[in-house]
Amino acid sequence: MTPQFDVAVIGLGAMGSAALSFLAARGVKVIGIDAYYPAHSLGSSHGDSRLIRLGYFEDPSYVLPLLKRAYANWRSLEARLRSEILTITGVLQIGAPDSTIVTGTRASCALHDLAYEELDQAEAKSRFPVFSLDADEVALLDPQGGYLRPEAAVMGYLKLAAEDGATLHFGEKVTGIEPDDTGVTIASSTARYRAKKVIVATGSWIAELVPQLKEHAVPIRQVVAWYQPRDGFITQPRRMPAFLRDEGDDGSYFGFPAIGVDGVKIGRHAHFREPIDPNAPNPPVNEADTALLDAFMAKRMPDANGVRVNAITCRYTMLPSEDFLIDLMPGDPRVVVASPCSGHGFKFTSVIGEILADLALDGATPLPIGAFTFDAMERFIVAKSKAPV
Ligand SMILES: Cc1cc2nc3c(=O)[nH]c(=O)nc-3n(C[C@H](O)[C@H](O)[C@H](O)COP(=O)(O)OP(=O)(O)OC[C@H]3O[C@@H](n4cnc5c(N)ncnc54)[C@H](O)[C@@H]3O)c2cc1C
Repeated sequence: MTPQFDVAVIGLGAMGSAALSFLAARGVKVIGIDAYYPAHSLGSSHGDSRLIRLGYFEDPSYVLPLLKRAYANWRSLEARLRSEILTITGVLQIGAPDSTIVTGTRASCALHDLAYEELDQAEAKSRFPVFSLDADEVALLDPQGGYLRPEAAVMGYLKLAAEDGATLHFGEKVTGIEPDDTGVTIASSTARYRAKKVIVATGSWIAELVPQLKEHAVPIRQVVAWYQPRDGFITQPRRMPAFLRDEGDDGSYFGFPAIGVDGVKIGRHAHFREPIDPNAPNPPVNEADTALLDAFMAKRMPDANGVRVNAITCRYTMLPSEDFLIDLMPGDPRVVVASPCSGHGFKFTSVIGEILADLALDGATPLPIGAFTFDAMERFIVAKSKAPV
């Protein structure tokens, strides 16, 4: 007989593992299925660290209630796991006074009355000597910022889901979902299942099960590298905040203090924006990748710029608006879709998991996701096509 579930969660990266845990905690009969094993290197939820910050420069509307709830939910996860997932180091956001990151952070903090400090070149050098600022640059310190441990979060959510009764299947690729009048049939490489609802959280592979996203969800190559600091003292998490740096036309860079033995980690947001095939191995790191990141280290963080000990390729999956998509499938409310969140979604995982559980069980959520719907994505695409070039 075909196994029956209330909800099936397909994809157990950041979004799927969190959704599975929230569903299992509500006493629902749930199965989670992943093609690989958790936090694997072809997904988007590995690599030691992810930034979290409260004064969100991208848009102040992310702050309340979503980011505040995400922080609270991370702390609840830690309490249940009895281990640390979120470490507060502050996040330093550096750039010209009129740069996108600096103006956006100021606006977000002002709107939500969030505390932050604005440092000039000399103040930044004295407080955080690892960073080199130009004379006309400023640094905004978000004291609530820090970093999350992605592998620990994914494993933690899966552990709790299993303890709460979820069924977990790894190494099993879902090949089709077929909704009908009474539920959904899920076909995998080895079995078939029935569920009343299904959540699709398949990261860079999302368009395989959600054809509406074929044109829009674009997996791109992302490269990050780790450097042994020349000065190990000033790169410790107690002395060096995580950071974002607005380099104008050269894009924005992000990085972390020396959390583990590998040292200081950096990357450029969206790197070279090169599309990749999600079913091919990640293209290897090449000289253009390392030249870009080495040059940044030499110019902006010379005292952290010792030997580069590691560099890896991983994946962002971008939507046209570089936003999120969290919605019921158009025309089929039995299917809940969670996009891989355009390279900035990890910090929201702990609230997106709750939202996905709401959508699967109730068909709606009290949390505001109006900006993350299929309709909002279509409106953005239409507006962009009409915008003057
Ligand atoms: C290098 C890098 C740095 C980032 N930095 C930040 C940051 O600082 N802050 C931040 O907030 N966000 C950041 N992000 C973004 C964030 O990490 C992602 O938004 C998030 O991890 C995506 O999670 P996901 O669950 O959607 O995808 P994934 O983690 O990729 O999970 C998808 C899962 O689905 C499975 N799957 C796919 N197809 C199938 C199928 N057919 N059947 C079964 N299973 C399937 C896959 O095996 C995979 O495990 C970063 C991303 C990267 C790559």
